[in-house]
Amino acid sequence: QGAIAFKDVHFAYDPERAILKGISFDVPAGKTVAIVGPSGAGKSTISRLLYRFYDIQGGSITIDGQDVREVTQTSLRKVIGMVPQDTVLFNDTIAYNIRYGRPSATEEEVQAAADIAQIGTFIQTLPDGYETKVGERGLKLSGGEKQRVAIARTILKAPPILILDEATSALDTTTEHEIQSALDVVSKNRTTLVIAHRLSTVINADEIIVLRHGTIAERGSHADLLSQNGLYASMW
Ligand code: ADP
Ligand code: ADP
Repeated sequence: QGAIAFKDVHFAYDPERAILKGISFDVPAGKTVAIVGPSGAGKSTISRLLYRFYDIQGGSITIDGQDVREVTQTSLRKVIGMVPQDTVLFNDTIAYNIRYGRPSATEEEVQAAADIAQIGTFIQTLPDGYETKVGERGLKLSGGEKQRVAIARTILKAPPILILDEATSALDTTTEHEIQSALDVVSKNRTTLVIAHRLSTVINADEIIVLRHGTIAERGSHADLLSQNGLYASMW
């Protein structure tokens, strides 16, 4: 369940300037596809179109054969777990933020999701240094930690499709590894689309799509693409 198909997808924010110029690719159910490419190539736009923040202007996007335009926003959000680039957190505990949208989740389930996302040790603190009632200061979360809160929320929600739009904001190597290991767990047996802004997270993807100027320049596994000695290989 959760097979994604983009067929000849065209999209422009501004009619004068095409962003996606006929993009076709499949993410078979349970597989992971990573989109890479230079900044501005249209990578994040792909995730926004799948989640229907915007509607496409040509071609089709289907999930299990059904056009996303025929699916209500509510059902789409049940099927797709989106880990956005920038996660805005509520001024409440990290546990509350993880549980958001899943009021029936037990404390054990919230803790387990937090442990997988490797934020399990501080879920009772407040994000972003908000003042607590007793005047204690919460944690100032890094971009990577905020993204792990979103990953934990997605683990709890357990949707068949996961979109991970990697934060472009400066992440240190440690958080990058932590995000990768959380992602490995959450993407297992789940259809996963990774919008990759750095390369280390794409190596294990079933297929890597290299986007350039709104078209697919190269596609294949990490090993295939390296041996092609093209754009992907030059990015390393
Ligand atoms: P990438 O993720 O590959 O860096 P994006 O998909 O974010 O690229 O953006 C592709 C192009 O679309 C960029 O030139 C960007 O400036 C433009 N763009 C992105 N979002 C918007 C928007 N909301 N309105 C207008 N242009 C946008
Ligand atoms: P669901 O309840 O199925 O998770 P929603 O449409 O309520 O879906 O929200 C989608 C995602 O957007 C949530 O999982 C959450 O990550 C985020 N979100 C929604 N509203 C807010 C908000 N006001 N502040 C921060 N994040 C939010």
